[in-house]
Amino acid sequence: MNLSQKLHSILELDIYSKNMGFNQTCLVLAKDILLDERVRMHCQVNLCGNYHNNLMCPPFLPSLSEIRLLIKRYNFALLLQLQPSITSKNKEETLEIFSKTAIQLNEMLISLERKAFASGFPLALALGAGECKLCEDCIVKHGKTQCPKPGSSRPSMEGMGIDVLQTCKSAGLAMHFKEGELTLAGLLLID
Ligand code: SF4
Repeated sequence: MNLSQKLHSILELDIYSKNMGFNQTCLVLAKDILLDERVRMHCQVNLCGNYHNNLMCPPFLPSLSEIRLLIKRYNFALLLQLQPSITSKNKEETLEIFSKTAIQLNEMLISLERKAFASGFPLALALGAGECKLCEDCIVKHGKTQCPKPGSSRPSMEGMGIDVLQTCKSAGLAMHFKEGELTLAGLLLID
């Protein structure tokens, strides 16, 4: 595929993602994805409880230096956001909406990754939001390290050490975490 065909196919993927229902999308250069050691440190502090408890979270993911090399092998990326409306002020209900939206986001990203594969980008890679929620209990908690759902489980952007807020901000995409507003972001890396 020459550059002009490639750009055409990527713009088609962008349109496709909008039609899928993403609220915001933005095509960026892969070199503008910001990695930050402090994000990985936040994983290690383990406020979310998923460090060492989910195969799609650290320490089961590559090191930041390996991820830097990996991202360097891509040229472009689509930043994709879902912004569910939060009608309740109840914390538990808000967390439930977050979880459901994260699952929806990851499903949409996997579909987009497959679409990218069919469009001539066999190495396209989707990164979602939050820990993998495909199993009630991640298999790693039972001492196993081989994910039974490799076709649909993907690491999150933050788990890969990406500064999601700054990357979105630099691309001109807002992240809302105010009362009544929520933003979840994902990424499709394209070679
Ligand atoms: S699919 Fe299941 S086993 Fe694989 S990472 Fe997700 S939760 Fe863990």
